[in-house]
Amino acid sequence: MLRGRTAIITGSTSGIGLGVARRLAGAGADIVLNGFGDADEIEALRADIANTHGVRATYHGADMSKPAEIAALIAHAKAEHGRLDILVNNAGIQFVAPVEEFPPERWDAVIAINLSASFHTTRLAVPLMRAQGWGRIINIASAHGLVASVNKVAYVSAKHGLVGMTKVVALETAGSGITVNAICPGWVLTPLVQKQVDALAESKGLNDAEAREALLGEKQPSKKFVSPEQLGGLAVFLCSEDAAQVTGTTHSMDGGWVAQ
Ligand code: NAD
Repeated sequence: MLRGRTAIITGSTSGIGLGVARRLAGAGADIVLNGFGDADEIEALRADIANTHGVRATYHGADMSKPAEIAALIAHAKAEHGRLDILVNNAGIQFVAPVEEFPPERWDAVIAINLSASFHTTRLAVPLMRAQGWGRIINIASAHGLVASVNKVAYVSAKHGLVGMTKVVALETAGSGITVNAICPGWVLTPLVQKQVDALAESKGLNDAEAREALLGEKQPSKKFVSPEQLGGLAVFLCSEDAAQVTGTTHSMDGGWVAQ
């Protein structure tokens, strides 16, 4: 279905981004991986995606907090793959503290990676997509793009901002063959969330299984984690022709979190 298309997935060396990359490759798309990690492990991931799905996969290590490196990532897709059809803005970090104790440099880092990076990728990708008359931009927001929680002022602000950006760019590109949508996951058991499980275990004296259950119980009515592969399935749908008129929307996959 996506044969001949090229997708950049930011932050795809781990977690949700990796799950989305694997599902897009499974649908036939060539892949540009991005994110941090051990060089040998990243090369193994890249080769595995290429070999398993018979697609072209490359890697670019742009730091998504740095606009010049983001420009180099987009230029890499154009130079190495000759095109850019699908942009998944996924790279993200978390920091948890009450507002009066929130370190300003952590605020700046969360806003840079979780919000401004998507502005920079989008502003550079849209002209390429307009020239092709086809494009898909998928912003990995969060349940925290729709509702708030305590101690996450930067993350919730960034994710609400990303939902707003999704709507603006959808309006600006409507009718051009480009769609822009946000996916709003609930809890997904990735390294980003495991850190929060560990913090809860430590503060409440729980073991790992108890802490996971407590975390889910607080927000996610299904009491089950969403998986990166399930989110990848939704991304594949948004890239399909059936989704050509789906734009400017948020798609929750959160076990009922924001229905409450
Ligand atoms: P993760 O920590 O497993 O993966 C994050 C990825 O981003 C990694 O590949 C990492 O190397 C990369 N990354 C981090 N900083 C980067 C930078 N400066 N430049 C380039 N790459 C960078 O996290 P995850 O849980 O898979 O999160 C992915 C996205 O999904 C984030 O935007 C997160 O906010 C969002 N999200 C996660 C959950 C969840 O429950 N895990 C829920 C809702 C939304």
